[in-house]
Parts: sequence; structure tokens; C-alpha cells
Amino acid sequence: MEKKFSQATLCVQGGWNPKKGEPRVLPIYQSTTFKYETSEQMAKLFDLEESGYFYTRLQNPTNDAVAAKIAALEGGIGAMLTSSGQAANFYAIFNICQAGDHFVCSSTIYGGTYNLFGVTLKKLGIECTFVNADDSEEEISKAFRPNTKALFGETISNPSIDVLDIEKFARIAHKHGVPLIVDNTFATPINCRPFEWGADIITHSTTKYMDGHATCVGGVIVDSGNFDWEAQADKFPGLTQPDESYHGLTYTKAFGKMAYITKATAQLMRDLGSIQSPQNAFLLNLGLETLHLRVPRHCQNAQKVAEYLEANDKVAWVNYCGLKSSKYYKLAQKYLPNGSCGVIAFGLKGSREDAIKFMDNLKLACIVTHVADARTCVLHPASHTHRQLTDEQLIEAGVAPDLIRLSVGIEDVNDIIADIEQALAKF
Ligand SMILES: *Cc1c(COP(=O)(O)O)cnc(C)c1O
Repeated sequence: MEKKFSQATLCVQGGWNPKKGEPRVLPIYQSTTFKYETSEQMAKLFDLEESGYFYTRLQNPTNDAVAAKIAALEGGIGAMLTSSGQAANFYAIFNICQAGDHFVCSSTIYGGTYNLFGVTLKKLGIECTFVNADDSEEEISKAFRPNTKALFGETISNPSIDVLDIEKFARIAHKHGVPLIVDNTFATPINCRPFEWGADIITHSTTKYMDGHATCVGGVIVDSGNFDWEAQADKFPGLTQPDESYHGLTYTKAFGKMAYITKATAQLMRDLGSIQSPQNAFLLNLGLETLHLRVPRHCQNAQKVAEYLEANDKVAWVNYCGLKSSKYYKLAQKYLPNGSCGVIAFGLKGSREDAIKFMDNLKLACIVTHVADARTCVLHPASHTHRQLTDEQLIEAGVAPDLIRLSVGIEDVNDIIADIEQALAKF
């Protein structure tokens, strides 16, 4: 029913459809547990024979309404909120990979994800091969093995602002019988809907533009329902063979197109428990109600700031896919015709110390470990978010040691530029 509405309407009204006498605004179901009349009713829930709420670690009505809104925005068939973007990406992979498995990932991804995939998952016996996303299909295909279970990339990479050729990645994934998982955090479904380009699963750190006000850490996984797990039954036994923890239920048989997202909820969330609190889901929903208004403003402001930086003598380079000089301009025009994001990467003509001095002199733009919220902020990844990476890994992750990441907010753009101008004048 919601499919016929536009993104703007879904942002405001999606997910929560109150009936007669129910609250107009999505309520916070601040309850760990839910009441039943008979023991048998409850037993059916535990056997996944009926759907319903019984314990908030598995499902909560506030969370489900917000997940439904995001699923509608992405054009998916189901979604699950997680406590963070990290949890979303972990679950997205762990839902189809186990010890002995392997997956392939673009090397230009968020530093936290790089660490999770390259270091922590390895300890669980899951190996990741990082590839240069700009390489040819043949080159990237070389990374695939018989035990490869997924391909992963970010629509717009954090912090290098590379644009992923989603169609190319989808072709490579599908040629090898695995799903394409895309982290769509920076683009948001307002600017890009990766399912329309062939992605199978989408993840987000909702902490960023979706919340948009820097109030709560959260994540989401969205399922397109398009990947045919049964056609690759040997590759995905977790979905196509009986689950002993549910009396031998098989997800693909019991839930069809909803197999992947149901398993993520019924099995991973049950066992690992990184649920988003209903309070945070409520705040996330308030953010989503204005996503369609905020995202274009972030993009318009960032475009002006990027053009200003590019024309400034003290700036060595600017990477923003909305600039014609960007290597990713053409891909951005294809996948992000209405704008990309508010994040700009640039470097100054000067030393690493000059970059730090410039940042310290900013007044309106604050130094914070965050991006993609209403307030303009700035970060030096090499000395902050990515400081655990070696120089070699930094470059592989697309992060130049002098890269300054500027997240342009939705203030008056003239004030943002004036702030940058006075800080540039001081070094
Ligand atoms: C921030 C971020 C994450 C991690 O999300 P958290 O909510 O901080 O756990 C994952 N992917 C991308 C692209 C991000 O920007």
C-alpha cells in the first residue's frame, strides 16, 4: 500500500498507520515484554508459527514501524533495526557467512567496517579479500573463491567519497552466485536506491543522515527479497537447511522471499542481541520525518563549499563527486543525479600540522568524531577515526594522510564559507 507514495510522503508518514483511536504519533513501546492469554499462544511465537511480539530483543512495535518506513524508502520487502551501523554490517555478513567462508569487499569503506571485516571477522574464521572497486570486472572476479558468499561496497565511501559502480558490482556478485550488499549510509534512499541497480541487501548507519541530529547511534539492514537463495542452496546452508535452534525449520521454505531478514531477526538478534532501543528508534523516526528536506540542503551547501575550496589557492585538492574535476563525477551523475552527500574530502597545501592548525581555527565547524548531521563538523581521519591503520592501509582505504573530512551541515552556507575563509587566512 505504501509503495504508491513518494519518498517525501514515506519520510513523513511511512511505517505507522494508526487505526481508530490510536496515537497519531508513533508511540515508544517502552516495554521489554508483551502479554498473552494462553501458554499455547506464546508457544506458537517461539516456534515461529505465528508472528507477534514477545520480547523486545527480538522485536518491538516501535522498532518495527521505523524499520518498515526505511524498507519502504529503499523499496525493500523487510528491514531490521540494529543498535549501530557496525552491528548492521556484522549481521549482514554473519547471516550468510560462517567459519571457513569468505567474502569480497571494496577497499574504500568506512574505517570501522574495514577493521571489522579485516581483523575481527578473521578471528571468527571468516576471511575478507579487499579489492579496488575501480578495477575491471575481470580483475575483481579474481578475488572470488568457491567459498565466497558475498560482495560488499559503499554507495559513497566514507571518508574518501568514491562512488561505487553498483551495476558493475551487482553483475560481478550475481555472476558468482552471491548477493551484493551495499552500505547506503552517505547517499540515503533520498539520493540513491541501490536495489534499483541490482543490490540485494542494503545496510545503513542510521547514526548519520537518517537520524541527522547526532542524537542516537543505530543501524538497519534492508532486504530486497530478490536474491534466490534456493538457487544457490549449497552456498547458503544457514538459509536453505534446517535450523536446529528452531526445531528444524528451514528459512527459505517457511518464509520465502523474507528468509534472509527473518533469519537475521529470529536467529542472530535472538542470539547476539544488538537491538536498537525503542527510545532511539523513536528519535530516529523524528529524523526520518525530515530526511527528504535535509538531504538536498546538505548537498546544495556542500556543492557551494566544494566549489569555494577548489578555487582557493591554499587548497591542494578537493574530492567531491559533485565537482566536474572529480574522478567519480560521471558515476555520481548516473547513480546520484539529485545530489550525493554533504561530506567533502580535501587537503591543504602545507604540512600535516597546517591541517591541524586550520581545523583548530575553525569556529562554526566543530572538531567531532561524527559526520552527516545538521551541524557542520570536521575531522582528520589519519589522526582520529583511522589512526589504528598503517600508512599503507590508509592509502588502500582511500584516505590520504593529509585528508580533511568536512561534513557540511544545513546552516547558512555563507556562514560556513566565511568560517573556512577566516581559518584558511591563519596559516
Ligand atoms: C558510521 C558508519 C558506519 C558505522 O556506523 P555506527 O552507527 O557508527 O556503528 C558504517 N558505515 C558507514 C558508511 C558509516 O559512515
